[in-house]
Amino acid sequence: MNGHRVGAGTRERLYASTTSTYDPHNDLDLIAIECALNGEPAQLTPAEKLHAARILDSRGHTDKEIGRRVGCADTTIADWRDNDWNPSSGKPKMPRPRRPEPVCGEPRMYRRHLKNGERCDVCRAANAAADRRNRLTGSRKEKVG
Ligand SMILES: [Zn+2]
Repeated sequence: MNGHRVGAGTRERLYASTTSTYDPHNDLDLIAIECALNGEPAQLTPAEKLHAARILDSRGHTDKEIGRRVGCADTTIADWRDNDWNPSSGKPKMPRPRRPEPVCGEPRMYRRHLKNGERCDVCRAANAAADRRNRLTGSRKEKVG
């Protein structure tokens, strides 16, 4: 297809409301919500994001698509739905698993040595080799295989 006829195809615009632009009871900017519903950039408050997510969910959009439109992680959308569309789920979030401690020869350990003013030949050699690779191949990563 190399052309687009104006007005061709099905186009559907979602509306948060067809009668008002603002919900004073819940402090919702319905125009901003309407923009988000239709995938247009919008600055939303947390309450507006939740409202928009609820509408998109009722229209059968995926969590990922909802998250993209309202500016949240898809896991946040799922949390809201699990919590009957209330903001906080009450259950504490699982802490992220800590990364394993770096060992000598890894970039993270080299940077740690630098920060602490330490000298380590293993890390220096690994960093110099990475620099050489970067100049030759454009990547600091060692080729695998
Ligand atoms: Zn080291």
